[in-house]
Amino acid sequence: MITVTSARKNYGSFAALDDVSLEIPSGSLTALLGPSGSGKSTLLRSIAGLESLDEGTVHIAGEDVTTVTPQKRDIGFVFQHYAAFKHMTVRENVAFGLKIRKRPKPEIQKKVDELLEIVGLDGFQTRYPAQLSGGQRQRMALARALAVDPRVLLLDEPFGALDAKVRTDLRTWLRRLHDEVHVTTVLVTHDQEEALDVADRIAVMNAGRIEQVGTPEELYDRPANTFVMSFLGTVS
Ligand code: ATP
Ligand code: MG
Repeated sequence: MITVTSARKNYGSFAALDDVSLEIPSGSLTALLGPSGSGKSTLLRSIAGLESLDEGTVHIAGEDVTTVTPQKRDIGFVFQHYAAFKHMTVRENVAFGLKIRKRPKPEIQKKVDELLEIVGLDGFQTRYPAQLSGGQRQRMALARALAVDPRVLLLDEPFGALDAKVRTDLRTWLRRLHDEVHVTTVLVTHDQEEALDVADRIAVMNAGRIEQVGTPEELYDRPANTFVMSFLGTVS
């Protein structure tokens, strides 16, 4: 479980996070949904430790990580534009985190093969990132993030740069991956369809605050206010 308590993040006099409290259950796939500028990335980056909070705390699995460095939070992170190592093959990219942790070679090979099969990149081991499509590259990024068995997977619009058809395919695929791997996942998106389709729980953000948290059904059937109602009703 990830618990964010009374989080505040200011940029000058502007509050990017304005007293945000949120519980993310272990093993869930939770979406942070909201319009551009609502604070989704700031919240995700605060969970990762890439931003430090001005007030409030972050706990992961009961441990207070508020002042812990990103490297020590045991988190996998995938961004919209993934920076792969261009000079490394798919296999080497996915193996990287295990190599620097000095895991034995046979263990690395087994793990990488397993993951590449799960993300549907079996047979792509010796390709370079430039020889992959955008969707394949993002799946490689996910395999790489998962390789070190993080306790939390944080995804910031990982499919945002891809075209509509690929986005929809990857959405279905992410759901299947999650059903198989069960790692606690937080997906940032401004796409209500994506959130309603893929997430177990959705936290709707607006202007640095959380308007409502619930299952897709709860939000759709019983929106807490007019913002949630109109935002969920907007088709992007
Ligand atoms: P998007 O959907 O466009 O990615 P978002 O919900 O992820 O938006 P954030 O990136 O979290 O939004 O930004 C929240 C607010 O904080 C925005 O108004 C943004 O301009 C502001 N902000 C974010 N980072 C900084 C920064 N480094 N300096 C100043 N303001 C910032
Ligand atoms: Mg963002």
